[in-house]
Amino acid sequence: MRLKDLGEFNFINRISKAIRLSNRVVKGIGDDAAVLKYTKDKYLLFTTDMLLEGKHFYKGSSARLVGKKALSSNISDIAAMGGIPKFAVISIGFPGSLDLKYADEIYRGIRKVADRFSVDLVGGDTVGSNKIIINIALIGEVEIKNLTLRSKAKEKDAIFVTGNIGGSIKLKHLNFTPRLEEARFLVKNFKINSMIDISDGLLADLGHILEESDKGAVIYEKTMPVSKDAIDFNSAMRDGEDFELIFTLPEKHADRLEDIWPFETRLSRIGQIRDIHKGFFLARKNGKLEKIKPSGFTHF
Ligand code: ADP
Ligand code: MG
Repeated sequence: MRLKDLGEFNFINRISKAIRLSNRVVKGIGDDAAVLKYTKDKYLLFTTDMLLEGKHFYKGSSARLVGKKALSSNISDIAAMGGIPKFAVISIGFPGSLDLKYADEIYRGIRKVADRFSVDLVGGDTVGSNKIIINIALIGEVEIKNLTLRSKAKEKDAIFVTGNIGGSIKLKHLNFTPRLEEARFLVKNFKINSMIDISDGLLADLGHILEESDKGAVIYEKTMPVSKDAIDFNSAMRDGEDFELIFTLPEKHADRLEDIWPFETRLSRIGQIRDIHKGFFLARKNGKLEKIKPSGFTHF
């Protein structure tokens, strides 16, 4: 059997099943970051993300934006846990023939994001490689009471998404701001039951919440914030790397959230969590309900 016959998620499941964890691990594989015991009132968060030339960016891509994306995608995962990013290590594979200016620009991009979100860059590793590879591992913290998992969505929760969905391939996938301030506002002011950031596509990532929470959902075509860069509604729902947040909270708090939302970032109420036996449905603008599958991007 080859990896692509198994699929990315089955492969990760297989890794997960073979690992035995100590009781210091609150959540290992299966969320946006690992959750580890730390102090009386805080957990440590730990996440990593890798960017590969030819896959996540191309030879002509702006080096500064490549650096920006490398750290921002990790911060997005810490944000999705309700936490605050703290310390990063950066491992790079660079071809020896690479223009020094390009390498410097990548680091300038990383440093700018680190400064903006108060992340200390504390180490890494450097190897020669035919193609550019950048891997960042990031540690963060979250107050125990503010931790937001994929697995705690409740029936009747309102489902929200930040920003616009789809078409990120045009530029946004390289040039986005992780929704850290928004996430911190949410966890400090509301009981957020579940949260995830969009890397695989809205349907797939909402699908991760539903699967981990054993729930179904209905989502509304009418209020979906489709980006003008998206080809159409259906592709917007499946396009990866939006780096927006999907979250759920009890419906009785949804109006207050919409009232006091203080950011320019768009906020859209896009659906409702249902009992798992009710399935996963899309309510079309014409009122019809369509059964949908949480499909999106996978690496193989
Ligand atoms: P995200 O898109 O939020 O970064 P991924 O889809 O990359 O999440 O990963 C999902 C989960 O699987 C995470 O908990 C991640 O730590 C874990 N994971 C991914 N690849 C591996 C691997 N090679 N070994 C162990 N865990 C992995
Ligand atoms: Mg994520």
